[in-house]
Amino acid sequence: MSALLRVEGLTVTLNGSRAVRGVSLSVREGEVVSIVGPNGSGKSTLLMAIMGLLRPDGGRVIFNGSDVTALPANERARLGIRLVPSEREVFPLMTLRENLLVSWEAGPRKESFGEALERVLEVFPWMRQRLRVKAGNLSGGERRMLAIAMALMSSPRLLLVDEPSSGLSPRAVAAVLGSMRSLEGSGLSVLLAEQNLEVALKLSRRILVMRSGEVLAEREVSDPVAVSALIRSLLWG
Ligand code: ADP
Ligand code: MG
Repeated sequence: MSALLRVEGLTVTLNGSRAVRGVSLSVREGEVVSIVGPNGSGKSTLLMAIMGLLRPDGGRVIFNGSDVTALPANERARLGIRLVPSEREVFPLMTLRENLLVSWEAGPRKESFGEALERVLEVFPWMRQRLRVKAGNLSGGERRMLAIAMALMSSPRLLLVDEPSSGLSPRAVAAVLGSMRSLEGSGLSVLLAEQNLEVALKLSRRILVMRSGEVLAEREVSDPVAVSALIRSLLWG
């Protein structure tokens, strides 16, 4: 498998302080990779720089073989990169269907709205009966799933998901995880930022540990117990 995303020595400065310091990573086609690290370690900053919402002062972002470092976010979106932020992710006064529609309209429209909707409803079957419900009436977990569904409406190649578990009850986290796992094998590449190590271990094959803007280690998740122990010692030891 070739790398769909390659980040090389990326550095991002926010208000004079280096939030991301020389980060390099890659995500292959169809691969789910997690970045774990405590609050303030630079995960969101890194995802925003990959999306093109923040300008790095060093390093490169290579997507599908092309250097996209100078491209604005909307052009990266057109190439197939989508970011699911961890907050303010849906339009609360619009119905689920309307949320999905605006998201489809903003995308490349490679398939009809109906086709995209069917593809997304296979991942989130519960939405079918609730398409006319206003997004503001959904629970926190349902809203998070809607945000992911909206991103999927544009048939992205790389999904950047920021803290899918944050602020959710354990039950809601389980529901979000279940739907995200059903994406496995769809060919979609996912880069996930998570404070919750259990979530990262359940969703990804490879984990990057980030602290103070730097990647400390990178591990395959073949032995979750060993990986979990190692990561705990790196982060909190
Ligand atoms: P994480 O997502 O891992 O919690 P962030 O990327 O949000 O980390 O933050 C990385 C660092 O950048 C932190 O030190 C944080 O305080 C700082 N930071 C985040 N957002 C801003 C901002 N808008 N302006 C200045 N500093 C910020
Ligand atoms: Mg964050």
